[in-house]
Amino acid sequence: MSRIFVLGAGQLGAMLHYSGLPLNLQVVPVDFDAEPIADLADSDLVTAEIERWPDTPVTRQLAAHPNFINAKVFGLMADRLSQKATLDELQIATSPWQSLERDTDVASLLEQLGSPCLLKRRTGGYDGRGQLWLDSPDTDLSDWQGAAIAEQKIPFDEEVSIIGVRNASGEMHFYPLALNLHLNGILRASLVGLERLQALQAEAEAMLGRLMKHLDYCGVMAMELFRVGDKLLVNEVAPRVHNSGHWSLSGSSVSQFEWHLRATAGLPLAPAQVKGACLMINLIGSERNEAWLSVPAVELWWYGKSVRPGRKLGHLNTCAAVPADLSTQVQALRPLLEEDYQSVLDWVEKRIS
Ligand code: AMP
Repeated sequence: MSRIFVLGAGQLGAMLHYSGLPLNLQVVPVDFDAEPIADLADSDLVTAEIERWPDTPVTRQLAAHPNFINAKVFGLMADRLSQKATLDELQIATSPWQSLERDTDVASLLEQLGSPCLLKRRTGGYDGRGQLWLDSPDTDLSDWQGAAIAEQKIPFDEEVSIIGVRNASGEMHFYPLALNLHLNGILRASLVGLERLQALQAEAEAMLGRLMKHLDYCGVMAMELFRVGDKLLVNEVAPRVHNSGHWSLSGSSVSQFEWHLRATAGLPLAPAQVKGACLMINLIGSERNEAWLSVPAVELWWYGKSVRPGRKLGHLNTCAAVPADLSTQVQALRPLLEEDYQSVLDWVEKRIS
């Protein structure tokens, strides 16, 4: 069987590798600074765990491979400007935005988008980095002009995401919407299985489905959305497996990683059978605590990275028959997680009760 090389060797690449094992798929995450692959064959497949990578000998080699799946999509989606333009072209609702040209001035931005509005770097920003709330007419924009977009501030009720998969012949499947908690731009928790979100499921699937079809996309794609009343607005799109789908490693008959590999390798997809309620808590900047493993029905995914404040180091997954039943695990985890997590657990308890 052909090998699947993954551009990038972070935790997403590692989880892709792990998910290939039961299928005997040889999934090889590749660090950007690795040596070029000496025996790369034309029959090998190439995918990516990230939408943007530095230009190095090995990334150049893999990105030029004839079987680099979705090769044209990455550039289009990695730049917020072309991503937003694509959404507009497809009439997929997204937060109103404007490009920051060399001559764009603060006054016109604030007039057109309202104050405050949010500047986002076109490329390279993630987890809330590369963003600036703009509210003062005196702000110096020189560092942002020609390199950013500005978005209207959306007074959203909550943040959700839809993750779907599409194969080369156009077959598509989707997970139920995840309710996401972001704090300071970083995803802290995802909750799946809330009955009230079912009313938005068809709309979310239509939005992501339209985009995947337009791009002739093959693999897993994630779309982060704002819920404003009963309407959805796209915040951003990731042409890859996504943090808000990590619950699927424990809560679905097929995880997002396996779905992505199946699509990439041309294997049957099948719809996902999902457990009643699933919760994922991101472990951010915390030392590993073996006691987490003592909680029944809690699974730890530890990425083996060095501990640094604000860094995603792992996640905890737990599932139950219905959302309210997750409360047992949440209460057992409380004393095992630092102060910083208590508001995250409060958020979860409020939503499942
Ligand atoms: P992003 O990196 O674009 O996902 O933004 C990180 C977080 O900033 C989001 O999860 C939201 O909580 C917030 N955010 C992003 N865009 C907007 C917006 N247009 N209006 C209000 N909040 C936003």
